[in-house]
Amino acid sequence: ALRITDECINCDVCEPQCPNTAIYMGAEIYEINPDLCTECVGHHGEPQCQVVCPVECIEVDPAHREDNDALLSKYQRLVKLA
Ligand code: SF4
Ligand code: SF4
Repeated sequence: ALRITDECINCDVCEPQCPNTAIYMGAEIYEINPDLCTECVGHHGEPQCQVVCPVECIEVDPAHREDNDALLSKYQRLVKLA
C-alpha cells in the first residue's frame, strides 16, 4: 500500500482518482486505508494518486510493503466483496 506524507497540501485531487476508494480525509491531511490500496494493481498500470499529486507526497508505506502477487490477491478479494 501507499501512504501520504505530512507534505500533503489537502488539494483534494487524489481522492476521486482512487479506483478503490482508499483515500479519505483524515484528522489533518488525506490518508490511505492500506486494506483498500492495491497500489492500483488490477485497475491501472501505475498508482493514480501518485500520478496526479502536485507535490509528490505519496510513497510506498514501509509498514505495508507488498509484492505484485499480494496486491493482486487484495484486488481480487476487494472485487469479490464489491
Ligand atoms: Fe488508491 Fe491506487 Fe493510490 Fe492506492 S495507489 S490509494 S489504490 S489511487
Ligand atoms: Fe494531498 Fe497529494 Fe492528495 Fe493533494 S494529491 S490531497 S497533496 S496527497
